[in-house]
Amino acid sequence: MQQKTPTVIITGAGLGGLTFYHALIKNKDKKEFNVKIFERESDPQERWQGYHIGINKLGAQSLINCLPSSVASNLQKAMPNPIPDLEHHGIQLVDHTGSLLLKPPYKPAKDVYGVANAPGFSAIITYRNRLRDVLLENVPVQWGKKCIGYEETDDGVWVLFEDGSREFCDILVGADGINSPVRKQKIPELQINDFGITQIVGDIVVPKNLLDRLIKIIGNSLFQKSIGLNGEVVFIFYRMIPIEQEQEQKDKCEPHYRMTLIFVYPTKLDDDVKNDETKVNDNDPASVINHVKHMIREFRPECELTNIILELWDLAPKTISDPKKYPFKTYDPVRRRKMQDIDPLSVNGWTSSRVTLLGDAAHAMSPVLGLGANNAIRDAEVLSQALLNYSPENYISCIKEYENEMLKRTSADVLKARSYTLNQSLPIGNKLY
Ligand SMILES: Cc1cc2nc3c(=O)[nH]c(=O)nc-3n(C[C@H](O)[C@H](O)[C@H](O)COP(=O)(O)OP(=O)(O)OC[C@H]3O[C@@H](n4cnc5c(N)ncnc54)[C@H](O)[C@@H]3O)c2cc1C
Repeated sequence: MQQKTPTVIITGAGLGGLTFYHALIKNKDKKEFNVKIFERESDPQERWQGYHIGINKLGAQSLINCLPSSVASNLQKAMPNPIPDLEHHGIQLVDHTGSLLLKPPYKPAKDVYGVANAPGFSAIITYRNRLRDVLLENVPVQWGKKCIGYEETDDGVWVLFEDGSREFCDILVGADGINSPVRKQKIPELQINDFGITQIVGDIVVPKNLLDRLIKIIGNSLFQKSIGLNGEVVFIFYRMIPIEQEQEQKDKCEPHYRMTLIFVYPTKLDDDVKNDETKVNDNDPASVINHVKHMIREFRPECELTNIILELWDLAPKTISDPKKYPFKTYDPVRRRKMQDIDPLSVNGWTSSRVTLLGDAAHAMSPVLGLGANNAIRDAEVLSQALLNYSPENYISCIKEYENEMLKRTSADVLKARSYTLNQSLPIGNKLY
């Protein structure tokens, strides 16, 4: 008797869920699934998907393995090839004045394939929003479908949506981010860990003369960290690729570059700041930017790097009025966010079933080591490979095989990123490096 094609439902069309979708479709000659993907947002542009992220060797290998060639050939839109002799895609640590502390070894690569095959550590700075756009190509996402839970039966899983509808499947993969309702139901005891650290992130447009001044002090690494004296850290990610400007602006002014600017600090510093002005209002970007600048002035010495960082924060949009006018078309206004993670091995509650988790839903981690998206993409590859052996009788062993590998790999990275973040947030003199 011919068996019916099993159905896999993915909740969440983020980097992990979309990569997993492509991998299942790419493998359909070996094992065919009916794949459906549901996303809570109403359309692809509802929410700002921005920021630069680093795709490392692990992520690059899995992306290439999971994506069909028609999609992989578009990866360059999200991760333009490094510009030889101009861009250094490795990381660099400097102190509060810009003096070099550490520049770990890094293998330059020609493109994403070079990153995947590099003999040592390699990475490519990538536009996260464009990567999501590339991954959305040819994927029939069902938008506006917020999953609120599921019901598992002997034969399969009913996935429940906020609009009152439900869908049946053989396997449910919750790829629905850090607040995953699938995780909350599957492993309620797995808690989100709050570090006591705050991050404020903005994507800004920087004129060439300001970028030149910055590079003169801290060098041309595209991923920079400036460690302050009180546990505060400034992260900077950028590419040396000018952003598109209207012809009229092009004629009048110098090239501009896109940059992700992040200020990370121990939350308790909020109370130490002697700010006579009104309290910070997270719904008012101008007030948050003012707060960041106040902290920088309070905690950092007067020097050229401090001046440049203050000028960079001044470039972050201070209103939320018309994001469409902003060069990135949508924009997430800057606000304070708690840094959080989830160690998937902090509980014993993982029982393999028809319902599993992928990406941040299972193992959100501190972004300071740039490992979150890379692990979500690797999950997609490992789970799709395990499901090649799927049969109605042995589906549990496929899920178990995936979870065993995923839990070990990602718990180690969550803990590594956590300890690095906590150490980094200690005042100078107390740090362990
Ligand atoms: C500032 C910053 C810098 C970072 N830098 C890096 C880096 O350099 N390298 C790196 O590897 N990672 C980095 N990360 C982390 C990375 O962005 C995440 O780890 C990655 O996006 C996780 O992918 P995901 O698919 O698991 O989750 P997400 O990308 O969060 O996608 C989850 C999707 O599920 C949807 N969803 C949520 N709830 C529901 C629901 N109930 N029903 C249906 N859909 C739902 C969401 O709308 C979203 O589209 C960074 C993160 C930040 C914030």
